[in-house]
Amino acid sequence: MKNSVFLLLLIFLMSACRPTAVHHCSAPVFGTYYAVTYCGDEDAGMQASLDSLFAAFSAEFSLFDSSSVVCRLNRGEDLYLSEDFVKLLQLSTQISRNTHGAFDVTVAPLVKLWGFGPDSLREVTAQMVDSVLENVGYEKIGIEYGHLIKRNANIQLDFGAIAKGLAVDKAVELLRQRGYTNFLVDIGGEVRTCGSKAGKPWRIGVQVPTEDSEGEIASSYDFPMCDKAIATSGNYRNYHERDGERFSHIINPSTGYSERSDLLSVSVIAADCTSADAYATALMVMGREKSMQWLQLHPELAAYLIYYEDGDFKVARTPNFP
Ligand code: AMP
Ligand code: MG
Repeated sequence: MKNSVFLLLLIFLMSACRPTAVHHCSAPVFGTYYAVTYCGDEDAGMQASLDSLFAAFSAEFSLFDSSSVVCRLNRGEDLYLSEDFVKLLQLSTQISRNTHGAFDVTVAPLVKLWGFGPDSLREVTAQMVDSVLENVGYEKIGIEYGHLIKRNANIQLDFGAIAKGLAVDKAVELLRQRGYTNFLVDIGGEVRTCGSKAGKPWRIGVQVPTEDSEGEIASSYDFPMCDKAIATSGNYRNYHERDGERFSHIINPSTGYSERSDLLSVSVIAADCTSADAYATALMVMGREKSMQWLQLHPELAAYLIYYEDGDFKVARTPNFP
């Protein structure tokens, strides 16, 4: 009896002293990459499960897959929407209201006009912008009995500013369902952490903006982040030049033009990555001053804004940013 108690104690002590095993999975996804790091026992099926989760996700929300649900809706098909689709539309509308339309998934016709969608670049006139604006506005869509209702047949959706964040949250759900409590999910820089890495907090880095889209990426600032999500939106990598002027892929849905300001990137920390992603884009549209005022009314978010002034990168941050 004494021996078996001793043996149990020994096994317990040995397992308590064993360093936590850390595993990684990564692959290309959504035109970028995903990287998942998790602690505990290895799950041989993890990579395949994540791959099929993201494939199903693309089949709903990708503008680069012409058979996806969003592309079919944009072509005018009437479809019964999945629960995830309805939830994402509802959350998008909520965030549009909260940001006075700075974030708006009906921005798709403008994104296409400016040559950031699957179509190629062309000349854009003020008249073209005005006529496309007729087909933009979150209050022009709704959901009835699981179907998308458009006030105008030319209205189209683009979830590019929120879907990556939702994909991160979906991967978090998958890992939790499999019993993991300590992990990090990263899709192209949109990150959510749960628990810790072998007893130490996960560390996150915010990138220094580069001069142009080719510049080498480096991290300027790193900090611990537990049980939160962070997403970054920036205009210094994805833009077009027209007559020497840069037009960013982030478009102000009320003017129809890409927002030109001193703001280079916005990183937002929120409880979930879907919201962090959408709010980061919205703040890029709002610009630095409006964003800092707006953030005072939203203490549930923390933000780190990098802007360009007097030939140098400067930072504005909310007091609650780690
Ligand atoms: P992100 O990198 O998360 O800021 O998302 C940028 C992408 O979202 C763009 O490439 C467009 O597809 C789309 N987008 C651009 N402007 C807006 C906007 N004001 N609201 C919602 N989505 C937008
Ligand atoms: Mg975003």
